[in-house]
Amino acid sequence: MTQARSHGEMAEVGIIGAGVHGASAAFHLARRGLDVVVFERGRPAGGPTGSSSGICRAYYTQPFLARVAHDSIAFLARFAEHTDGADAGFVRTGGLYLHGPHDAAAARRTAATLADLGIGVETLGPDEVAGRFPGIDVGAGGDDVPDSVGTGGDVAVAVREEQAGYADPHRTTWGFVSAARARGGVVHTGARVVRITETPGQVELTTADGTTHRVRRLLLAAGPWTAPLAAQLGVTLPLHAERHVVALLGPAPIAGTGTGAAADADAGVIIDVAGGYYAAPQPDGGWMLGGLEPTPPVDPDTATGPVRDTEFARLAEAALRRRPGRPGRAGRPGEPRARAGGWSALYDVSPDWQPVIGRITDRVWVDAGTSGHGFKLAPVLGDHVAGLLAGEPPAPGLAEFDPGRFTAGDRLAAGFGTARILG
Ligand SMILES: Cc1cc2nc3c(=O)[nH]c(=O)nc-3n(C[C@H](O)[C@H](O)[C@H](O)COP(=O)(O)OP(=O)(O)OC[C@H]3O[C@@H](n4cnc5c(N)ncnc54)[C@H](O)[C@@H]3O)c2cc1C
Repeated sequence: MTQARSHGEMAEVGIIGAGVHGASAAFHLARRGLDVVVFERGRPAGGPTGSSSGICRAYYTQPFLARVAHDSIAFLARFAEHTDGADAGFVRTGGLYLHGPHDAAAARRTAATLADLGIGVETLGPDEVAGRFPGIDVGAGGDDVPDSVGTGGDVAVAVREEQAGYADPHRTTWGFVSAARARGGVVHTGARVVRITETPGQVELTTADGTTHRVRRLLLAAGPWTAPLAAQLGVTLPLHAERHVVALLGPAPIAGTGTGAAADADAGVIIDVAGGYYAAPQPDGGWMLGGLEPTPPVDPDTATGPVRDTEFARLAEAALRRRPGRPGRAGRPGEPRARAGGWSALYDVSPDWQPVIGRITDRVWVDAGTSGHGFKLAPVLGDHVAGLLAGEPPAPGLAEFDPGRFTAGDRLAAGFGTARILG
């Protein structure tokens, strides 16, 4: 049996995982002058973060997260100023959120709440959507529309958010890592933590090479692998992993124009709750597409595999039904040129589809369960999480996300109907 080697002095804070959440927390801890060390088994953003669509919107039903998302978008837009010149690749496109009759009232309520918070959103009726974004078919419902969220496809109300857009998850995460390192943080890559032992004065971590590291406090930010790590400490976190796909629909000339120019390009990011998909415009004129519905739990250690033909076709059909004049129409979704790639990856999902943040033992905290909507929250949520580890009083509203809520039988509301991914 290999003798464990001990590694240096005890660090103030250890973090397991350098996805965007661990990296952001590391940056905010290092910025506070705390001695922080991160353990990442692969590379920063090498897990689900690196597969994220990176859509950034403050359109949340949950007020605390709406504020965090709003502030995070502002952070991403001025990322270089916070991180010594790094670029998060943020592109402001605006966002348009389409709802059917079922959730029209909830959408109007959400927009009103956001307006009260000072978040700029505008509620539009179907005629206003058609007038402003002529490429969008607001009456794209009908018997043959997959009624994925029980709304039928027709748009009853829409919400417009001008500040929304998308960012680059790799560049964002690496920007945080570099800025944390520049402030004295240590980020170990290829360092898989295999054992966690908590004693009254410290937490001891053993990595796969047999080295032991001692930290005063520990943050678990290991995405879909957080629950097994917490289990080593005797804590059950009710998180599960789901496989979700991103499908890329390539640009194709609009018939008769010979260009990829789009009548509704200014709609930007579209989250079509009525149609059951989201779409982010790509720099080449194509779209990045994903679904809004839960999928069955999977083992996070099993490969997620490529996008299946049926998955691509379902997303492409839904998106093209809503915008009949857009790329891919000239080449039908089943045709090779319409399909420009894609991938699948894991969401780490909590029972109420809201993040799980807080203390789980005397010296261990968790930031996980981001349920497919956590990328855009990370820049400012990482500051709140760093505050918890630094012993600062928590921001009002943060306690709602405490892991203990599930044992107490509490569930937070999230999203609209089964499209809980909107948070
Ligand atoms: C396909 C897809 C699309 C998405 N689209 C969006 C979107 O448009 N907008 C949005 O806001 N959010 C989106 N999300 C969600 C967002 O990407 C996640 O919420 C976020 O990236 C989670 O980051 P994280 O740091 O918590 O976890 P992760 O990215 O899962 O990082 C955890 C890290 O921990 C490491 N790790 C695990 N176990 C160990 C161990 N034992 N030792 C050391 N390291 C370990 C892993 O290697 C990994 O790098 C999407 C997610 C996916 C998968």
